[in-house]
Amino acid sequence: MTMAFDYDLLVIGAGSGGVRAARKSAEFGARVAVIEERALGGTCVNVGCIPKKLYVYASEYGRAWQEAAGFGWQGERPAFDWGTLRDNKSKEIARLNAIYERLLEAPGVDIIPGHGQLLSSHEVLVGDQRYRAKHILLATGTWPTKPDIPGSDLAVTSDEIFDLPHLPERILIIGGGYIATEFAGIFNGLGATVVQSYRGELFLRGFDHDVRRFLAEEMQSAGIDLRFNHHVHSLTRAGSGLISAQLSDGQEDFDIVLSATGRRPNLDNLGLETTGVTLTDSGYIAVDGGFRTKDPAIFALGDMTGGWELTPVAIAEAMAFSQSQFGNQPTEADYDNIPTAVFSQPPIGTVGLTEEAAIAAGYDVTVYESRFRPLRHTVSGIEERSFMKLVVDKASDQVLGAHMVGADAGEICQGLAIALKLGATKADFDRTIGIHPTAAEEFVTMRNPRD
Ligand SMILES: Cc1cc2nc3c(=O)[nH]c(=O)nc-3n(C[C@H](O)[C@H](O)[C@H](O)COP(=O)(O)OP(=O)(O)OC[C@H]3O[C@@H](n4cnc5c(N)ncnc54)[C@H](O)[C@@H]3O)c2cc1C
Repeated sequence: MTMAFDYDLLVIGAGSGGVRAARKSAEFGARVAVIEERALGGTCVNVGCIPKKLYVYASEYGRAWQEAAGFGWQGERPAFDWGTLRDNKSKEIARLNAIYERLLEAPGVDIIPGHGQLLSSHEVLVGDQRYRAKHILLATGTWPTKPDIPGSDLAVTSDEIFDLPHLPERILIIGGGYIATEFAGIFNGLGATVVQSYRGELFLRGFDHDVRRFLAEEMQSAGIDLRFNHHVHSLTRAGSGLISAQLSDGQEDFDIVLSATGRRPNLDNLGLETTGVTLTDSGYIAVDGGFRTKDPAIFALGDMTGGWELTPVAIAEAMAFSQSQFGNQPTEADYDNIPTAVFSQPPIGTVGLTEEAAIAAGYDVTVYESRFRPLRHTVSGIEERSFMKLVVDKASDQVLGAHMVGADAGEICQGLAIALKLGATKADFDRTIGIHPTAAEEFVTMRNPRD
């Protein structure tokens, strides 16, 4: 007896991965529905990449005004209004939500608002409605966690930070990942006093060690109070709306405490126990290279599978999934040389292996480095410097990693990512003509290896 299915594919979660998988699979002719309990576009559009980058832009104008004085611009520095930024951000996100709705509707995807709960390998409950599907794709992303300390409920997470009623005067940011570091730059740029507390020796674990150290120096000289090997023991409500933080180096009051201490997969009330889906040791959904879970009818991709946790990676996985399952083109996602940026101030751009990872992988490496004051700041009077680094395999001359801290690092490293993907050697970099005067030309003019 064959089962009657409402859909070929039921996607739970309309974030970066879920939307792309739903759209693409429908374009290949599958009958598809996507279930979303919050807003279309998921974390990236609503409380991640997009609002974050808009706030980074906002926070750069204060310093741009400061820099402008050296170039002859005069006058009072204009005042910043948090409410205008917040409301314009919300308008832009509403516009993007509508675009996502149209993108889904155009190829015929049904959008089902509400929380999806698995009832079996082929059945999902939303409200009091049951939907049956031949395949189910889990793409529910991750959720911010808070540190296990007394009073942690007084802290906000990145989900709430964009919609604060006012710009805080003093903010404590707990965490050493890229989200914590980006918000440190945002609030510093907007004029708040920022303390970033990280329990480890140096923030941004996983990035190149020189990059991490260089950025820490630049952030400190820009006025951010970075505290490493530092602990937040507890938070309590203090007078006049302040939060009192008991820190490893004393007690201090803040207007806002932002917890950016990590994220966990979104599995709440998902009903996994009614299926054959299993978890990895760290609690993510276990999948193979084809995004198959241990349950033959259920697939999973994106952040909830614990990979790179980046939007373009979730999208690449969704494309590979749809092509393989409904496009008759078996495809695997390609995780080699994934470029990424941290929108800190100054930003990081990176692609390929760090020096530490290259050595750990057994390469004998030559390292090229450059530290310089960008042309703009020779006249702006701002003290900011830039840093670039190439990690090269001695045996083959292949460039294994390119890393940068400095203006436009993300934009520059996107181009370099293509070169690394093509296996460019240091000799290829050297025979490439630079664009003058730019910072990027430094990547093709580094001649002397580091001692
Ligand atoms: C502050 C911040 C900044 C970031 N900045 C960047 C950046 O600059 N660049 C970058 O590449 N990445 C960035 N990211 C990461 C990026 O947002 C994620 O990698 C990406 O959104 C992952 O997509 P996804 O499809 O796996 O999940 P998500 O986009 O998280 O989507 C999951 C969706 O599932 C829904 N959902 C969950 N459970 C259910 C359920 N049971 N029923 C119905 N719906 C459900 C959720 O509401 C959500 O909409 C950032 C993340 C954060 C938090």
